[in-house]
Amino acid sequence: MPDEDHLHCQCCGATILPGGAFYHCKTEFISGFDGVLPDSPDPEADIEAALQQLKAISAQEAMDEIYENIELVLCPACRTKLQKAILAMLPDQAPPKAPQWGKARKTVQFPKAPKSKGKILPFPGSSDSE
Ligand SMILES: [Zn+2]
Repeated sequence: MPDEDHLHCQCCGATILPGGAFYHCKTEFISGFDGVLPDSPDPEADIEAALQQLKAISAQEAMDEIYENIELVLCPACRTKLQKAILAMLPDQAPPKAPQWGKARKTVQFPKAPKSKGKILPFPGSSDSE
């Protein structure tokens, strides 16, 4: 039975004693958009298909596809396990090293979205000529 007076690792359930090492893991999944809307021979059918897909899932599932925030408290062992699992998903990634205190954190760079060459439309009512 979990001890209510102490933190616990949300992965393995280990008790984190007062003053003990633990980690906050904050993960955000944010839907990306590169600014490109592919040409479609039938945009109305595409919209109808998208609406049908939305009807097939819950409101929470639909929101999670756009933005999902996961926050965990982890013990050091589970932090290392999660770090290895994440880095193992990346190609050509060196195996993770043990935490090195005082060094800059590792940041994974994702490719940037291509610059859009589309026309920027003003919001209605934002014209200076009014
Ligand atoms: Zn743990």
